[in-house]
This record gives sequence, C-alpha cells and structure tokens, in this order.
Amino acid sequence: MKFLKRCWAETDLSAVGYNLCEYKKLLPEDTELMCVVKASCYGHGDDLIVPYLQKNFGVKYFAVSNLIEGIRLRDMGIKGDILILGYTPPEFAPELASYDILQACTELSYAQALSANAKDTVRLHGAVDTGMTRIGVHGTAEEQADELAEISKLPNIVLEGIFTHFSSADGIHDSDEEYTRMQSERFFKVKELLEEKGIHLKHAHIKNSAGGAYGYGEGSTLARLGIILYGLYPDPAKPLPFKPKPVMTLKAVVSQVKWIDEGTAVSYGRTFVSDKRIKLATVTAGYADGYPRALSNKGEVIIRGKKCRICGRVCMDQFMCDVTDLPDVTPGDEVILMNSEINADTIAALTGTIGYEVTCDITSRVPRVAV
Ligand code: PLP
Repeated sequence: MKFLKRCWAETDLSAVGYNLCEYKKLLPEDTELMCVVKASCYGHGDDLIVPYLQKNFGVKYFAVSNLIEGIRLRDMGIKGDILILGYTPPEFAPELASYDILQACTELSYAQALSANAKDTVRLHGAVDTGMTRIGVHGTAEEQADELAEISKLPNIVLEGIFTHFSSADGIHDSDEEYTRMQSERFFKVKELLEEKGIHLKHAHIKNSAGGAYGYGEGSTLARLGIILYGLYPDPAKPLPFKPKPVMTLKAVVSQVKWIDEGTAVSYGRTFVSDKRIKLATVTAGYADGYPRALSNKGEVIIRGKKCRICGRVCMDQFMCDVTDLPDVTPGDEVILMNSEINADTIAALTGTIGYEVTCDITSRVPRVAV
C-alpha cells in the first residue's frame, strides 16, 4: 500500500498475538480476556488490531472509553461485548441499546437517568469503588451491594456484571501489594453480598494487565488486558513473567544532511551549539506527530542501525540529529524513533511520563500501518 512516508507507525500484529497468548498462559483457565482497546488501542490503531484479535484469537470482550469508540468498533463489524469504561451522557441511552454496547455504571442516580432515557434494554456493568476513588458505587460493602441491588431492579436496565479497578497492582512496595489484596477482598465481598440477595451476575472483573500478570484478583471472570497487549510494561521497574514484544515502531525519514562548523547554533532558542564540526540530519517528525518536545537535546533515534543523538529542540514537524559517524547517510533514509530498542518506556523515562502516554500521544496525522 502506498502512503506518505514522512512519519508513520508500524503496528506489528504478530507481536500483538504473541503478547496475548503469553499473557493468557498466566490466567486461570476460566478467566476470559477483555481486550482494552480504548484510545485506538493506546495509539496503535484499533482498525488494525481489533479485527485481528477477533478473527485470529476469537476475542469476545472489548473495553473502550466512550460511545464513539464503541460505535466505531461496531461499524468495523466487531461482535461480542463492548464495554464503555467511561461516561456516556444519559440521553445516549437509546444508542447504547441500539448498538448493544454495555455501559459502566457509576451510581444509582446515573442508572436511573439511563433507565429514564432508554426505550430498550441497556446492559450495565456496575463500577465498584474499592480504593481507586475514581468511579463507582461508594461506601461500605453493604451500602455498595444495596445500591447495586437497587440498580438491578430498574426498568430498561440489565445489570450483567460488576467491576473494579486496581490502583497499585503494578506497584513495587509491600504496601502496594497489601492495598491491592484489600481491593480484591473488598470487591468479592460485594459480590458475595449481592449473591446473598439472590443477585447472581454473569461477570465480576477486577484484573488489569498487572493484576493478571502478578496473580491478583483471583475469581475475576475477565482480565482487562491493556498495556501488555501492546508490548509495554505496567511499570518497567517491575519485571513480568514474560518479555512482552513492543507493537509499535515509529518511523520518519531524513530530509536533509549537512556539515556544520564548530559554534553553529541548531533549532529554536539555540539550545544546542556544536562544539566541533559535525554532520547533521534533519528528520521529518515533530511534536505535532506526538514525538515529545521533551526529547530536545536528550533523545536518540536510530539511522542505519546506529543511535544518533538529537541536537537542539524538537520542532512541530522536524528535528535535527548528529550523524557524524554515518558516512553514507542520505535524504530518504529511514529514521527509527521508537522500536523494541528505544521503546515507549525508554522515551517515557526521558520525558517524565509513562509508556501508556507516549503511544497514546502519537497523533492522528501519523498513519498506522500493519506489518
Ligand atoms: N480497566 C480499566 C478500568 C482501565 O481504566 C484500564 C486502563 O486504563 C485498564 C483496565 C487496562 O489497564 P492496563 O493497560 O494497565 O492493563
């Protein structure tokens, strides 16, 4: 396929498949995968990955952040359960029903508003706040179970499951482990209380990537697999039972090569001044592609198999790097901005963020191509 080779992201589908299969081995037999494909698969391209997951691995459960993402999957022909983890304004209850998309339910008043706006059945998974303090029914386990029981009785509503989210399952301290176990116990207590009321739900899910990898949340009917599917670590400081394969390779090209004399200032603000004669290449990517400006004078790229340091500030669409040691470099050469060697976690460490944000930040003007 011909596309504009200026700045583009290659999505390695075989790496997605590898990560999925290796992760699945860590789960109990009866735990199914819910692939978290929000934000266009954390920036990797949902149109490439989601049909691949369904067709090749029979994935039946997907999680998105909002209704637009959910409808997009249905329009791609995706079958099975699609759960919106975020908020949908209640006036969109008819769309939830007609596209048969499940909604996370934060509290009774929200369920009542959905119920009032719905003409057909809206399927819900009730969010239970066990310590993330983000969304979900709040209070003691008894109060939470009572509220969920009320939700389950509403007209036009089917409460099919409950879920909660770990805040620290990837944490490296004992207190993180303790907190994670507390969240899990609290969650299953709510499930037990519901069962005592005669409410038996199809799903109760708690595991995220880290939960599944480190064995937290046993009894979870689904594991909501996000970051590891894309070959990155929940926290690079904590090893995983297998080495996930990064899925994204971000590429650009060299547009110009030139020698500059000692004392030459490079890019905005003249933050780089060469201390000797060096050869510079200009690269066709910048922060408008999601390549972080925070990599100015810090990051490295790979050209012809060699790492080259970034010189000066990363501009909106271009930046410069030092190619003095590359005698044959020429305009049109491929530049690797991110791959398995310099991955999103490496970039995140240099820019003070997390790998999740690095891949999500790659902007929509960057074509995603399957390889
Ligand atoms: N579940 C919920 C509710 C989430 O918000 C997320 C990610 O943001 C996930 C699961 C997936 O987490 P991870 O990417 O760490 O697997």
